[in-house]
Amino acid sequence: MPNVQSLRCKECGRDYPLEPIYVCDFCFGPLEVAYDYDAAEKNMSRESIQDGPLTIWRYDQLLPVGRENAVDIGAGMTPLLKADNLGKELGLNNLWIKNDAANPTHSFKDRVVSVAATKALEFEFDTIACASTGNLAGATAAHGAKAGLKTIVFLPADLERAKILGAAIFGSVVLVNGNYDDVNRLCSELGDDRRWAFVNINMRPYYSEGSKSLSFEIAEQLGWRAPEHIIVPVASGSLFTKVHKGLNEFARLGIIDGADTKMHIAQPFGCSPVATAFIDGQAHPKPVIPDTIAKSLAIGSPADGFYSVGIANKTGGSATIVPESEVAEGMQLLAETEGIFTETAGGVVISALRSLAREGVIGPDEETVALITGTGLKTLEAIADSIETKTIDPTVRSFDEIVTGAAVS
Ligand SMILES: *Cc1c(COP(=O)(O)O)cnc(C)c1O
Ligand SMILES: [Zn+2]
Repeated sequence: MPNVQSLRCKECGRDYPLEPIYVCDFCFGPLEVAYDYDAAEKNMSRESIQDGPLTIWRYDQLLPVGRENAVDIGAGMTPLLKADNLGKELGLNNLWIKNDAANPTHSFKDRVVSVAATKALEFEFDTIACASTGNLAGATAAHGAKAGLKTIVFLPADLERAKILGAAIFGSVVLVNGNYDDVNRLCSELGDDRRWAFVNINMRPYYSEGSKSLSFEIAEQLGWRAPEHIIVPVASGSLFTKVHKGLNEFARLGIIDGADTKMHIAQPFGCSPVATAFIDGQAHPKPVIPDTIAKSLAIGSPADGFYSVGIANKTGGSATIVPESEVAEGMQLLAETEGIFTETAGGVVISALRSLAREGVIGPDEETVALITGTGLKTLEAIADSIETKTIDPTVRSFDEIVTGAAVS
């Protein structure tokens, strides 16, 4: 069994039992899983990790539930790729892409839901649900199917088709006329009198721990060290804070020598409350009404925004607001240089990386990891108008007329 101690309030430090709860009764602060790190130090080492399965479950000593009954469709151990072509383009000699589009439902959300679904079974819920900006719906529905749970996922109605159908194939999808913040509010109300496991509401303390596996893997794949920079796409800020927590835990356990990683926030112009707060020197992001092409990042009222700003400050990181027109550019640049087709959130990350390299925030030789969190096949709408294809008759003449002619001209 892992080394879990309690749920602990991030604000006042009060401890709570390990139940499906998520806010502190005293101060309304968010609850987070606390571990016994002395115990973890004894039963977790580089060797024990390497002996584990090739999934997020190799790190279960620092997850809130053990691997024995894991709801496992293969989340994790995605490739960390040296990005020399993109690096050359940007003047970065030590650039890596962590490609989480390679997860089973093609986004990093498989990591968080694998943990949340496992806890949902342990708590004996019979229904798993979520409020989603898109990718979470597919991950929740797929893990719900594998776990034999009833599934119901809630999405803003204006989402990309592939995200809706990619979830509906596994379970029930409800489209809500409203934005993510409306969906989230509705789900909180629904959760009040239904015994459902909402992965990102009442299961949120467990769910969010799954994101740490991203930084555990990066450290392991770099040969047991933390990089100098990580660029993270931010929606609620959960991924951002947990990537940082994971590195610190590895350092605390002596699995890596230290963690001085600078944490960089990337958000699109049409939904940038966290980046704006950082740039303006404010601790608390001001809620916004999202209007962005990067729908997976469209959370106007980010639950972990305050903590994300704090971490970016404390680590000497930064925040970049990417113009909407540069989101598709970032997608295109990664595709052309590295052969990776990312979704809009990845376009935001690559465009932010380009700015950070230009401005010298990231030096040419500094080891840098850019997080690619989802696949472009789910957000075809974003590039459909800018990509050209040619159609010919099945004759050489037609080929010469339309393709060769065009290529020469
Ligand atoms: C959910 C999501 C994120 C980040 O989400 P947080 O709420 O900040 O944890 C980033 N990229 C993609 C593709 C996502 O689906
Ligand atoms: Zn509290």
